[in-house]
Amino acid sequence: MSIQFLDLKTHHQAHRAEFDRAIGEVIDSGAFAGGRFVEQFEKEFAAYCEVKHAIGVGNGTDALWMALLALGVGPGDEVITVPATFIATCEAITFCGAKPVFVDIDPDTYLMDPALLEAAITPRTKAIMPVHLFGQPVDLDPILAIAGAHGLPVVEDAAQAHGARYKGRRAGSIGAAGAFSFYPGKNLGAFGEAGAVVTNDDALAAKMRMFRDHGQAKKYFHDVVGWNCRMDGIQGAVLSIKLRYLDERNQLRRERAAQYDEALRGLEHLVTPVRSDNTEHIYHIYEVRVPNRDAVLEAMAAAEVSCGIHYPVPVHLQNAYQDMGLGRGSFPVAERCAGEFLSLPMYPELTPAQVDEVVATLRQVLQG
Ligand SMILES: *Cc1c(COP(=O)(O)O)cnc(C)c1O
Repeated sequence: MSIQFLDLKTHHQAHRAEFDRAIGEVIDSGAFAGGRFVEQFEKEFAAYCEVKHAIGVGNGTDALWMALLALGVGPGDEVITVPATFIATCEAITFCGAKPVFVDIDPDTYLMDPALLEAAITPRTKAIMPVHLFGQPVDLDPILAIAGAHGLPVVEDAAQAHGARYKGRRAGSIGAAGAFSFYPGKNLGAFGEAGAVVTNDDALAAKMRMFRDHGQAKKYFHDVVGWNCRMDGIQGAVLSIKLRYLDERNQLRRERAAQYDEALRGLEHLVTPVRSDNTEHIYHIYEVRVPNRDAVLEAMAAAEVSCGIHYPVPVHLQNAYQDMGLGRGSFPVAERCAGEFLSLPMYPELTPAQVDEVVATLRQVLQG
């Protein structure tokens, strides 16, 4: 029996009739770009994140970019983030004309190491953008304390953390703004591309609403030069349905993760994820670390268990960022992890029997 890394077909089959009906309503209403289905979802998603505003946009990269632009990040500025992330985090900084500045990650949580943050701040620093990687919220309190002492806003990259909690509060709701992606494979995924920014700041929300819609608050009256980052009506309608099931699906992921934790405990040469105190992890990715990762990935694939790597190359070593001149050895923890990370199949529809099979296969591969 082969096991997929992600099974969206089963995921969608369960609510197929609801989706068909909702998409039919969008077709009949003509509200395709922005419009009432997006507005409805924005209300629901803001309530879910326990914030005042959610602004629906085209994708998660737009969400990060708009949050930074609205905070005034521009040419000559620096934004501090981590090299262990999907490249979009850094692209958003670059597309503001600013420069990404990296701090290494904590070797246990794989998230921004707050102890390294202060040293990365310069007079040009304009914002700090930690990433809730894999669905685990970063330890925000020390980051907010340092940011506050320097008068800097924190933007949360919550693209992998829909519904996660840090000390009881939703990921994305704690900093000046939080950016979400609804890429189909994310814990809350659209039927295509979509994203959102959440914030409690009325002025920031107003700026982002204008920016995503060509700088207009009133049609054809453009107060600033904006861009087109609107969310599609179909995505809004689909996301409203999926949002209702998000908590129960995240809970299923947590149960599968607990099963992996238990079954993999004590297995030699393997590091399982560490859950930090005071957080509710939503396991967008269940990653382990193994030596000879590429060989393990291949052997798992040969045994028909699809695994992934998130991500094989840290951002500072990507060809796209070679002009930064940050060679190997610049961020040793992120570099070592990138060579060892292996993402095991993880989705709500994964059955306990399938988890057992993944574990048995991994055991065989590591010990065989
Ligand atoms: C998915 C993702 C993004 C980008 O989201 P898109 O919707 O694909 O543009 C940004 N940051 C992180 C950490 C992500 O995982």
